[in-house]
Amino acid sequence: MSSPLLRVRGLVKHFSVKGDLPLVTKTVHALDGIDFDLNPHESIGVVGESGSGKTTLARCIMSLYRPTAGDVHVHGRSVYRRRGKRALLKNVQMVFQDPGGSLNPRFSAERSLLEPLLHLARMPRRERPAAVRALFELVGIRPSDIRKLPHQFSGGQQQRIAIARAIAPQPEILILDEPTSALDLSLQAQVIALLMQLREELGLAYVLITHDLSVVRQLCDQLLVMYLGRPVELGPTADVLDGPNHPYSQALIGSVLIPDPTKRDLVPPLVGEIPSPTAPPSGCRFHPRCQHAMTICAQEAPEARRVEQVQTWCHLYSRSAQESRDVPK
Ligand code: SF4
Repeated sequence: MSSPLLRVRGLVKHFSVKGDLPLVTKTVHALDGIDFDLNPHESIGVVGESGSGKTTLARCIMSLYRPTAGDVHVHGRSVYRRRGKRALLKNVQMVFQDPGGSLNPRFSAERSLLEPLLHLARMPRRERPAAVRALFELVGIRPSDIRKLPHQFSGGQQQRIAIARAIAPQPEILILDEPTSALDLSLQAQVIALLMQLREELGLAYVLITHDLSVVRQLCDQLLVMYLGRPVELGPTADVLDGPNHPYSQALIGSVLIPDPTKRDLVPPLVGEIPSPTAPPSGCRFHPRCQHAMTICAQEAPEARRVEQVQTWCHLYSRSAQESRDVPK
């Protein structure tokens, strides 16, 4: 059987940080066991509150961070291998949240695109000007503007240039880290339309890191919900958004997607803050905030259970907990 385009297996990333006392260090549990596959032309959305580990996941896939454990494969090859690194970088590109900050302020729009064409695509010099023009045309930037510097473009235009730069080496995967959150609403809609168009025309696969569940619904086939570095629910986007199983997913999705405020009462709201990743709760990390928590929840981390098409990490769906559900917390 052929390997998927992107395979993430058992991904763990811990960071050591200074503690409150000299010579004392703490461990930040940024990621603790993330698994998913992504096939060509598919998109996966990754959602969760700030501190859930979404951006660390994106950076591990880009091999900007080396994981503490686990691996990421593209076409069956680890992204952490030194050999063939350039080919992998060409194949996986990233679009950042802040387009202004991600573009070199001293590079014209044209030069921002020439760099990846030269260093990653190794395109012959005579072919590069036409490739730059074609890329700008594709993302809707006027050819007459290509000599301008980033600050001379609007936020939406800057993000179009950043997207053009990312697709210049003809990658198969784009990691999109909150690509619309720095833009106002009308520009967000334009950038989402552009991403949908590019996925159709170029057959790209996306890993979309976002807080915006409406963007996930438009762009993503699968949805991964994360909480404090761990997966809580993974499955087809419509299944998870329309009928979330996990109490955290229910609260997260219910608070955003139900326009009728009277119906929001049906979903228990999220209470409290996400705990510190330097001292994650035992067992299910969501248990201090969960209205369904049972004794077992503080003792054992739940295994993944398949509920129809969706994997859910919650003791409510495991047989042993079903039997002990009447045990008081
Ligand atoms: Fe709540 Fe327990 Fe499920 Fe965690 S495992 S979400 S605490 S019911």
